[in-house]
Amino acid sequence: MAMSLIEKARSMLLKYPLCDSCLGRQFGGLGRGITNRERGFALKLVITMEAHMGLKRGEGSEEEVLRALAAGGAHQPAANLVGAEAGDVCHICGGIMERIGEYAAEVVRALDGYEYRTFLIGVKVSGELAEREDALKSEFGIEFGESMKMETSREIGKLVSKATGREVEFSKPDVVVTVGIPGPVVEVSPMPLFVFGRYRKLARGIPQSKWDCVHCRGKGCEVCHGTGKIYPISVEEIVCGPILRAAGGKETKFHGAGREDVDAIMSGNGRPFVGEVREPKVRELDLRAVEAEINKGGNGMVEVVGLRLSDRRTVRRLKEGAKVAEKVYRALVELDRDIGEEEARALGKSFNGCVINQLTPNRVLHRRADRLRLKKVYEMSIKMIDPRHLELVVRCQGGLYVKELISGDGGRTTPSVSEILGCGARCTELDVIAVNEGV
Ligand SMILES: [Zn+2]
Ligand SMILES: [Zn+2]
Repeated sequence: MAMSLIEKARSMLLKYPLCDSCLGRQFGGLGRGITNRERGFALKLVITMEAHMGLKRGEGSEEEVLRALAAGGAHQPAANLVGAEAGDVCHICGGIMERIGEYAAEVVRALDGYEYRTFLIGVKVSGELAEREDALKSEFGIEFGESMKMETSREIGKLVSKATGREVEFSKPDVVVTVGIPGPVVEVSPMPLFVFGRYRKLARGIPQSKWDCVHCRGKGCEVCHGTGKIYPISVEEIVCGPILRAAGGKETKFHGAGREDVDAIMSGNGRPFVGEVREPKVRELDLRAVEAEINKGGNGMVEVVGLRLSDRRTVRRLKEGAKVAEKVYRALVELDRDIGEEEARALGKSFNGCVINQLTPNRVLHRRADRLRLKKVYEMSIKMIDPRHLELVVRCQGGLYVKELISGDGGRTTPSVSEILGCGARCTELDVIAVNEGV
């Protein structure tokens, strides 16, 4: 027959000194709305009362139980009966559970200077402590116990919440605090902050992201005049600098919904992006002020609109959405022979609703895998500037390389403007005038 709860607790206490928490924790899955410490105290009290009853009935052996509780269990009601003795330290925690308040105070200190509304405590219990607890659990066949890691993270969380007025949040906390036990080692990890917006790039020669110098890999050399960069400034730097300064973080990452070429303008409604700040200290940003600072720094070349706080999910949607988004480009084209109005009109028509077979362009092959893309041109309208120069407006699926749609890329993109006209064709200027997607 299975041992009763009391018998089990009693045999544990006779063999090992256990504090209230460590005893109660072995039965932590039983009863709701009480702490393990209360469970442990209640068990010890019942055992004490039973032993006292035995003693009164003349069972002298029960005194041993009371002494074990008074010393090893540090249980005052038992000590009152047999006299207090110097208590042994708890076999599992060595007294750590009595010092949970000190760990909580350490966490509160570490969180000072961070802005957060919610937090989560993660505890790492040393291997030695965990092994001692596991050994006891298997020795006594514990079925409904809890782990020290669970109890300490919950109890520290309660105390920190009480001290700071902030809430524990499991799914999306603003900050995660890792506590090493016995340590105490406390590590604060603020969750990244995400700022969504749309940018317009109104000048050519600006890459979307910072581009390290290929000669020195960003360290700075003669080729890059010590800047470590190929281009003096990027959309990423103009946008992320003010966000990072406002959030007081460690670093930023720029996520764009696709990217335009360095020499392309990005106008119209702007391209969606998310600026991610790692380890921010401030989370409540004055985004109107940040927007104004970015636009001032952008100096008419780069500007942002519609900044708002966002989340990691949006970054994923942005990346996926970029592939299916609809883009509208304006391209200037130079031809190797003269064409007439009629031919220009026919050219535009032939692309309406046309699916383009496009192998990875030669110019990006060094950094992208060679693969075939099928991308649709929804609409192409053509304006003749003169018999050798055209202005195209192309509405197409995201991910189509428009420069190659014009040049044909040596046959790697088909059909192309060059292929249909049977002559060389080059894109001399390319602007993105709209990025349409549901972000
Ligand atoms: Zn203990
Ligand atoms: Zn360099």
